Amino acid sequence: MPSKERLFGTNGIRGVVNKELTPQMATSIGSAIGTFFKREKLIVGYDARTSGPMLAMAVISGINATGCDTYFAGMAPTPALQYAVKNHKMAGAVIITASHNPPEYNGIKVIWKDGIELSHEQEMEVERIYFKGKTEYAEWNQLGTKHELLETISEYIQAIKKHVDTAQIEKKKYHVVVDAANSVGGLAAPFLLRELGCKVTTVNANIDGSFPGRPPEPRPENLEELASIVRAVKADIGVAFDGDADRSVFVDEKGAVHWGDKTFALVEKHFLKKNRGEIIVTPVSSSTLIKDIADAHGGEIVWTKVGSVTVSHTMKKTHAKLGGEENGGIFYGPHNAVRDGAMATALILNIIAETGEKLSNLLAELPKYFIEKSKIECPEEIKEEVLRTLIQQLRGLNVNTIDGAKIWFEDGSAILIRPSGTEPIYRLYAESKTEETAAKLIKEYSLKLKRIIATSR
Ligand code: MG
Repeated sequence: MPSKERLFGTNGIRGVVNKELTPQMATSIGSAIGTFFKREKLIVGYDARTSGPMLAMAVISGINATGCDTYFAGMAPTPALQYAVKNHKMAGAVIITASHNPPEYNGIKVIWKDGIELSHEQEMEVERIYFKGKTEYAEWNQLGTKHELLETISEYIQAIKKHVDTAQIEKKKYHVVVDAANSVGGLAAPFLLRELGCKVTTVNANIDGSFPGRPPEPRPENLEELASIVRAVKADIGVAFDGDADRSVFVDEKGAVHWGDKTFALVEKHFLKKNRGEIIVTPVSSSTLIKDIADAHGGEIVWTKVGSVTVSHTMKKTHAKLGGEENGGIFYGPHNAVRDGAMATALILNIIAETGEKLSNLLAELPKYFIEKSKIECPEEIKEEVLRTLIQQLRGLNVNTIDGAKIWFEDGSAILIRPSGTEPIYRLYAESKTEETAAKLIKEYSLKLKRIIATSR
C-alpha cells in the first residue's frame, strides 16, 4: 500500500483502486520505473481486474514519457509475462495485478530482465526516483513508442511443454478440472492441458473482474465447489489458481483439497529422484515434510525468509532448480525461477503419468504431520524486542532465525514463531507426528511468548 516513504510491499505495489492507487499515481510510478530502466524495452500486461486496462494505459503513458518503449501484452497470467521477458530478451516488465487480493485492489509488479521481480535494493531505487522528484522525462522527439506483443500466452504454453514428457501424458487422456478464479488462470492452463491430450472441465473460467465465483485466493475453504465437481465428473485431478495464476492448489481424484506443502513435497521427491544432490529452496514457514523428503532423497534445503521474491532470488544465487511455498507456489528453475501455476500443473501431471498412480495414493505415501496454529496479540512497537528476547531464551536448541524463530526438535516436531508483517500479532505454527505433541508445543510456546510480551511492555 503506497505510503509517504514506501511504494513497494512484499509483492509489489498494492492498493484500493482510485483511493490508494489512482491512474495519476500509476503514470508517475510508470515514469519512475521508466527512469530506472533508462530508455529500454518493457513488457506491460494485466490480470482480469476491472481496473487493469485503465492502470495499464496510465503506466504505459508514464513509461513512454521517459523514452522507454513498451510492448503491450494485454491480459495474461503473471508467469506468462515473466517468461516473455526472458523469451523476448526485454529489459523488464510491468504487470498490473493484485494477485489474490479482493477485487477492489490492484497493484504494480516490476520484473527485471531475468523474469524475477526487482530486488529490494532495486525497488528502493525506484522509490527514490518517485519520492525525490528524480524522474527524467524525454524530449518530445525521443519519447518511447507503444508496440503490441500478442503471442505471449501461446509461447508460454509451448515453453512449459518442453519440460514434461508430453507423449506419456497424452497417452493417459486425463480428465482435469480447472478453477480459474474468473481470472487469467483460464487463459493458459486449459489450453496447455488440451494440448497435453487432457479432457478439460473448467469452472469460474469466464473473465470477470468482480470475481463472482470465489475469492481469488485458492485456500481450501474456497475450493469446495471445485472438489465437488472433481468428484461429480470423476476427474483425475483438479487445480485452482489465484488471481494472477502463479499459485496453484490441487485436488485429488477423491475430491480432497491438498495444501501447497504436500504437492510441493511430491514434486520435490520426483525431482530429487532424478537430480540427487540438488538444492531445494523454501521459506521457513514450510513443513518439515520438505526437509524429510530432501533427507530421504539426497537433497539440500536452503531455508529463506517468507516471500516468493526471496525464494526466486535465493534460487538464482544458489543455482537451485526447484523452490516451493506452502501456499501453492512451485518454482521450476529450468523454465523460470518464479512460481508458476501452469508449469506446476504440468509437473504434477508428469508425475502421475510417469508413476501410473492416482494423485491421492502418491500424496498418501508422504510423511504425515499434524498442524496446530495460534496467534498472540503483540503491540507493533515491541515486536522486535520480543523476538530478540525469545531468541535469547532458545539458546541451545536447533533454531533458525532468518524470519522469526523456527525450532526443530529431535522427535521431528517443529514450531515457527513469527511476527505478522501486517497485523499486531505473533503467529505460531507447530507440527508434529502426533496431534498431542503439536498442541503441547503451541501451549508451551504461547505461554513463553506471553510472558516475554508482558515483561516487554
Ligand atoms: Mg499471485
